[in-house]
Amino acid sequence: MSKIFAVYGASGCGRSLMPVAVEQLQRLDGDADSQIVFIDDALDEDTNVNGYTAMNYEKFKSIHSDDKFVLIAIANSSIRQKIANKLSKNGISLWTAQATTTLIMDGVSIAAGAALSPFVTIAANVTIGKCFHANLYSYVEHDCIIGDYVTFAPRVSCNGNIHIHDHAYIGAGAVIKQGTPDKPLIIGKGAIVGMGAVVTKDVPAGAVVVGNPARPLNK
Ligand code: UDP
Repeated sequence: MSKIFAVYGASGCGRSLMPVAVEQLQRLDGDADSQIVFIDDALDEDTNVNGYTAMNYEKFKSIHSDDKFVLIAIANSSIRQKIANKLSKNGISLWTAQATTTLIMDGVSIAAGAALSPFVTIAANVTIGKCFHANLYSYVEHDCIIGDYVTFAPRVSCNGNIHIHDHAYIGAGAVIKQGTPDKPLIIGKGAIVGMGAVVTKDVPAGAVVVGNPARPLNK
C-alpha cells in the first residue's frame, strides 16, 4: 500500500493541525495516492472528524503499509513523549508539518515531529529538539536553543539568545526577554510560563511563573 500519514489526537490541537498536515502533504511530490487520517485512542471504532477518517492506534498499526508517518498533535508534552517512544518501538516515523505561512530562516535545525502552525517564524541559527509545538503566530528569534517536547501556545514571543529546556510550556502571548551570547536567558526543564507573562530573568526547572514581570505563582 502507498504511504499513510496520520495526525495523532483528534481533539482541539489535532483538528487545528490537520489542515497544516494536509498542506505539508500537498507539498511532497509524488505522493498523490497517499492518505491522511486521524489517530485517537478514545475511539472504539472508526469515525469521521472534519471529513477525515479517525481510528484508534491499534487499527492504524494494523493497516498494511511500510511507510507510516505520524504528527503527534497533543499539547501535553508527557503524552507526546510517551507516544513518540511507542511509535519508535513500532518502527513508525515521526512526521514534521509546517504551514505554508511558516517562515524558517538560515542555519535552523529542527528535530523530528515538530508542529509549526500558520504564521510561525523561526529565525536564524536556532536549534530545536524533538516534537516541538509552536502554535499560531509564535516566533523564535535568533540563536535560541530549544529542547525536546517543548510547547508554545499561540503568539509566544521568544526573543534572541534564549535556551528553553525539555518539556517547558509557554502560555499564550507570553514574552520572553532576550539573553546575550554570554548569558542566555534560561527557561528550565518542565517550567510553565503563564499566559501573557513577561519573563525578564531565568526561570528555574519546574517553576510556574506568571505576570509582568513574571514571578513564581504563589501556591
Ligand atoms: N489521546 C490519545 N492517546 C493518548 C492520549 C490522548 O489518542 O495516549 C487523545 C485523546 O483521546 C484526546 C486528545 O488526544 O482526543 C487530547 O485532547 P485534549 O483536548 O486533552 O488536548 P489537546 O487537543 O489540546 O492537545
